[in-house]
Amino acid sequence: MRIVLLGAPGSGKGTQAQKLVKQYGAPQVSSGDLLRDAVARRTELGLEAKVAMDAGELVSDELVLALIRERLSRPDALHGFILDGFPRNIAQAKALNGALERLGQPIDAVVLMNIDPAILLKRLTGRRSCSRCGRLFNIHTSPPTADTPCVDGGLEHALVQRPDDNEDTIRNRLEVYDAQTRPLIDHYRKLGLLCDVDAVGDVEEVFARLERAVQSVTKQARR
Ligand code: AMP
Repeated sequence: MRIVLLGAPGSGKGTQAQKLVKQYGAPQVSSGDLLRDAVARRTELGLEAKVAMDAGELVSDELVLALIRERLSRPDALHGFILDGFPRNIAQAKALNGALERLGQPIDAVVLMNIDPAILLKRLTGRRSCSRCGRLFNIHTSPPTADTPCVDGGLEHALVQRPDDNEDTIRNRLEVYDAQTRPLIDHYRKLGLLCDVDAVGDVEEVFARLERAVQSVTKQARR
């Protein structure tokens, strides 16, 4: 299964990607996570990317493509992947298409996480993740409970907030999404790969919609 998750920041791509990983065993390939890892390790690429990330701008295609190419060439991605946050513009989509064509591994479906922009600000300012297991929470809508232990078995989540989840940067990230990422919707719709998913609601409910939508797109492609 080779899936791209498309949607504005805060639309739930990361949460649904984590569910897809559990269900299908394909790895989540998140360009944001790869970049944050490079920043944390203070690599040359990370230090260069940090400036754009802190401002809520896109990191250059060249840097992001280098990370994605390396990640997709690892053995665990050979039989499928869930791309989360990549591609973010038409140039990245074309580069991805070229790389996958050369590997004979085309994308099966592009999931558009549809959501009213007014909801996004609340979702993003409430977003936290566990510093130990990476599990995503929202302090307003889905805080940790006794039923959501860390993957290492503990109940206590040390919750952290991303530095770019502050109001000013969020506003810029939403503008960048509109200007640069939104055109991908038409691009993938024309290719017959797009499936629209209503991303408002309970995580499980959204996941059920997502699975139905992906199945219908892949069925149509097989015909
Ligand atoms: P995300 O975790 O997907 O919200 O990404 C966090 C930040 O990383 C974004 O605001 C961008 O600065 C950068 N970033 C993530 N993915 C990409 C991408 N595909 N192209 C350029 N910049 C990206």
